[in-house]
This record gives sequence, C-alpha cells and structure tokens, in this order.
Amino acid sequence: MSVKDQLKQIQEQMNEACERAGRNPDDVHIIAVTKYVSEARTREALEAGITHIGENRVEGGVEKRRAFPNEGTWHFIGSLQSKKVKKMIADFDYLHSLDRLSLAKEIDRRLPDGQALNCFVQVNVSGEQSKSGLKPEEVLPFIEELQTYPSIRVVGLMTMAPFVEDPEDTRWVFRELRHLRDEVQAKRFNHAPCSELSMGMSNDFIVAIEEGATFVRIGTALVGKEVD
Ligand SMILES: *Cc1c(COP(=O)(O)O)cnc(C)c1O
Repeated sequence: MSVKDQLKQIQEQMNEACERAGRNPDDVHIIAVTKYVSEARTREALEAGITHIGENRVEGGVEKRRAFPNEGTWHFIGSLQSKKVKKMIADFDYLHSLDRLSLAKEIDRRLPDGQALNCFVQVNVSGEQSKSGLKPEEVLPFIEELQTYPSIRVVGLMTMAPFVEDPEDTRWVFRELRHLRDEVQAKRFNHAPCSELSMGMSNDFIVAIEEGATFVRIGTALVGKEVD
C-alpha cells in the first residue's frame, strides 16, 4: 500500500483515539520510522505529508538524513554509543534515547557553545531486562543532574512497551510514563520543560495516544518493511 493510504488510515485511528481521550489530534506528531526502508520510500513519506522521520542507527541513518537536506525534522530513536555522537550530532534534531550521564557529557562536548539538543530521557517502565532506559525512580534525580550540561534540553520522556498480542496489556506502561512526565514537568526546570511523551509504535500507538503520547514512532504500519 502507498504511504499516503497507510497514513490516512493511521490518522483516522489517531483521530478516533483522540476523540475517546478528549485530546486534540494536533498535539500528536507521527514520526515515520524509516529504518527498514529505502530512500525512495522515505521520499514517499515526505511527499505524503510526513514531517517527522525516525532512524535508529548512526550507520545508514546519517546518510539517509543527508539525502534530504532541509527536509523534515529528524529523530534519532535508537540506542546511541557515546563514540558515535560525533558522527550524528549535526544531523539530528531530536534524540529519544538519553539514558546516561556519560552520553549527555559527550553530547555537551560535541555541540558548539550555545546550541542544545532536544532530548527525550528513555525510561524502562516495564522493567524488561532486554530494554534500555532508566528505572522510573531514577528519572527525577537523573534529570536534575542534567542541569550540569547546558546543551541538553529535556523535552520529554520516551519508553518502549513490551511486545504483546493485546496492546491493551501495555496501557499501564504508557500511563506510568505519563505520570512520571507530569512529576518532572511540575518541577519547572529551565533545562527540562518535559512536556512531551514519545511512546507507541505500530502495534500499540492507539493505546499510547489514549494515554497521552505526543510523539508516536511508527515504522511497519506506515512505511512497511523492505529490509532488515
Ligand atoms: C523500530 C522502532 C520503532 C518502530 O517500530 P514499528 O513496530 O515498525 O512501528 C519505534 N521505536 C523504536 C525505538 C524503534 O527502534
């Protein structure tokens, strides 16, 4: 199916979810995750009206981003090794996987003075061993420590829910991330407005939106999967 048709379906589901939750659909941004697809398919997404693109690897991701200069807002959504910050830092607008101070320090070192990177702090809400991210109780102290690094701007929190048959089973994960976000936001940190929630993927974005997602990261259901 064309990206345009998939997008239309997703937007309909998104609108219904917003209606159920009493939310404004303008507050939900769709990130097209293009890690499994070609530049041509990425082009198709941009032409269908997608403005946010997500990549999860420095290799390939940087090249793809550079194939579209001045187009789209680019999100780095994968885990990031500190030694690769140098290569990607100029090409991405958002990082969704800030999970340790050493990474914040490296970003701060690599960004020119006066510039800041929009970051989501990744939280492992479900506690699965395979997932990266901070434990929920570590989030607030971690964000307080980030004040030391002037180039880190915490725009929100991010999580990946467990992959389950019934997305309803992941609702608690999204809800807990929202509560944590509210807690951080209430602190009114200058460096951490923390108003955003990056949560929900192809299989669970509807539940995530009902629970307050402001950025959903959708790959397979939107642009499909061409390569692994
Ligand atoms: C791949 C990926 C997605 C998108 O996954 P789909 O199930 O294809 O929608 C979202 N977030 C992250 C962090 C990913 O790595």
